[in-house]
Amino acid sequence: MSPVKGGKGSLKEYKKRRDFSKSPELEGKPKSTGKKRFVVHEHHATRLHWDLRLEIGGVLRSWAVPKGPPEEPGVKRLAVQTEDHPVDYIDFEGVIPEGNYGAGTVEIWDAGSMELVEEKKDKELKFTLGGKKLSGIYYLLKIKGGKIPGEKNWLFFKAKG
Ligand code: MN
Repeated sequence: MSPVKGGKGSLKEYKKRRDFSKSPELEGKPKSTGKKRFVVHEHHATRLHWDLRLEIGGVLRSWAVPKGPPEEPGVKRLAVQTEDHPVDYIDFEGVIPEGNYGAGTVEIWDAGSMELVEEKKDKELKFTLGGKKLSGIYYLLKIKGGKIPGEKNWLFFKAKG
């Protein structure tokens, strides 16, 4: 998968990668719902991974977490930022057919409230999650000095205490 620019509040990249006549995924538009939510999709693609999505700025900012979200403090997980998704994607579950981007089964692993506590643009996000599996204060910290240009590697972990 080529690196994608996420976190821009645009769905250009999302649309570019999909053929909506062949995928059950929705086309969607950026929109403000007034809700503060998150979802984690369990995505049985070529490689199983989990997609963390935070509702910020009218889109779902998204990160692919290969080893799954950390449920306990002290566990740091790689989270690769991917393209922003439409807010309505928060309820999506289904099967993306073979031959399409992200082909495989998508199901909701956890969901709930999300409150952005602090953002240092393109560096750090601090937020609270109120889900069934993920609950408490979490951080996403961008890893600096990636060797591959455009790479969007972050660390995802739960705060102690
Ligand atoms: Mn995915």
